[in-house]
Amino acid sequence: MKRWNGWGYSTIDMPVPPTAAPLLASLAGTPCPQRDAALEQIVEKIPPSRLSPDPLLSTEPETRLRHSRGQSLSDWLELRYGSVNTFPDAVAFPETSEQLEHLLGLAKRENAIVIPYGGGTSVVGHLTPPSGDRPVLTVSMARLNRLLDLNQQDHLATFQAGVAGPDLEASLRNFGYVLGHYPQSFEFSTLGGWVVTRSSGQQSLGYGRIEDLFAGGTLLSPAGKLVMPNHPASSAGPDLRQIVLGSEGKAGILSQVTVRVTPQPAHEKFAAILFPSWQQAVETAQALARSELCLSMMRVSDARETVVQLGLAGTNPALKLLPTWPERCLMLLAFTANSRLTVERDRLRGWHAARQRGGLPLPGPFGEKWREKRFRGAYLRNTLWDLGYAVDTLETCLLWSRLDQGKSLIENALFEGLNGEGHVFSHLSHFYPSGCSLYTTYLFPLSDTEHAVREKWRRCKSGASEAIVRAQGTISHQHGVGLDHKPYLQYEKGQLGLDALSASLHTFDPNSLMNPDKLL
Ligand SMILES: Cc1cc2nc3c(=O)[nH]c(=O)nc-3n(C[C@H](O)[C@H](O)[C@H](O)COP(=O)(O)OP(=O)(O)OC[C@H]3O[C@@H](n4cnc5c(N)ncnc54)[C@H](O)[C@@H]3O)c2cc1C
Repeated sequence: MKRWNGWGYSTIDMPVPPTAAPLLASLAGTPCPQRDAALEQIVEKIPPSRLSPDPLLSTEPETRLRHSRGQSLSDWLELRYGSVNTFPDAVAFPETSEQLEHLLGLAKRENAIVIPYGGGTSVVGHLTPPSGDRPVLTVSMARLNRLLDLNQQDHLATFQAGVAGPDLEASLRNFGYVLGHYPQSFEFSTLGGWVVTRSSGQQSLGYGRIEDLFAGGTLLSPAGKLVMPNHPASSAGPDLRQIVLGSEGKAGILSQVTVRVTPQPAHEKFAAILFPSWQQAVETAQALARSELCLSMMRVSDARETVVQLGLAGTNPALKLLPTWPERCLMLLAFTANSRLTVERDRLRGWHAARQRGGLPLPGPFGEKWREKRFRGAYLRNTLWDLGYAVDTLETCLLWSRLDQGKSLIENALFEGLNGEGHVFSHLSHFYPSGCSLYTTYLFPLSDTEHAVREKWRRCKSGASEAIVRAQGTISHQHGVGLDHKPYLQYEKGQLGLDALSASLHTFDPNSLMNPDKLL
């Protein structure tokens, strides 16, 4: 069963070695473990549902609690400290498009707010039911999870939008295909969620972001059905898929999605390189991002992240043999192609580019170990919380020319927000010819009151968001807008842009039924 107040399955833990506790204390401050609120304690205070009974609705309190929040730090604080106080009035688990349409009709009749719920992995407050007089209906997509069609001639696959990463890839694997979209939340996040939040998978360098993979689909909106055809290309006016991409549940419910798939690559190798400095690692990344090598992933950790990564990795004696450069930075790479020869040739070319800039390629297992555990890193948030630390992450995308300045502005804002107690580190993980994404993690000791932790989080989050705006980065490269990034969207879109988006979403949802307080 999934944890109700943390990440992932309750049967999976991600322990850290005994040496991790002193390392974390020296970097992030003395931990302050807390006793979590009990599920029963919260369930008791859930008010009765305001929606009329319907065979598709579950009003069972625990189900309502389990669909009341996502995975942002703010969500965790409410669940762990027990202050969560808005809940959907009912949760529906439709299995067909007709049932989805029935639910939209029901919402219209009852003037209810509708929150589509994919995997529940949002980290920006997308799923929080607003307080107020209107009832809230959360529509879980969990049972809309089937492969509907695979066209092997066109390399297109159509799925019901609630399919989660592992089921999607397993269905394609049966036919020798792959989508290749692997966000760290892969275990639970869904195809529909990826599209409406414009997500990016770890191997975006090879497979593209979700907008490159999204070929078409069906949106069921309060105003009617929008079918987006799968033309390979079109110059017939603005592309309506672009309104659905990033719509965060506000345009309607995406019921089916067609994606571009590729034949399963025959060879793939994950590898690691250590650099003496950040500058050398970034220069190499820039050169590789512009190269023709068969790279599907590249990730560069700064020196502070490298310390944490290697410190939490375990007591493997091989780690002791690594050079002890004081500013060492770890780069991870994946080479993906149909022939072993291409993978090996490009790996050697990558090594050559790295060596020219002072990099030291590490033996095989380093990269492969990372691949094995790549979705397990998310479980570390549970471990760190249990040890007594809050963890949050934020991300942006910057031009190469603004990367250094942007990184220092964002990290300085976080250190300032932490007020001397906490740790901040970053990596680059998605690359484009003109720039890359910057992903920053900060952790700090918990406090005995939720208020104290929340205040620290607020200072950090607003300071870092303002720094992103100053650095002319995007307020989100991959997590979306939700509640947490909403105040900063104006800097990116401008008032006319926001008005155009509002008007367009209003066409799909004239009565503001769909997730009304998010995004805009
Ligand atoms: C540990 C962790 C790691 C993460 N790693 C990544 C990462 O590597 N890359 C990345 O891009 N993101 C990442 N995320 C963020 C998150 O996983 C993505 O935003 C993901 O796309 C959300 O998908 P979901 O199915 O869980 O959607 P949900 O969280 O359930 O919903 C998100 C929003 O989409 C709407 N929605 C969901 N399904 C539909 C639908 N069918 N129709 C209409 N609206 C819908 C919801 O109403 C909500 O507004 C991570 C999150 C966590 C907690």
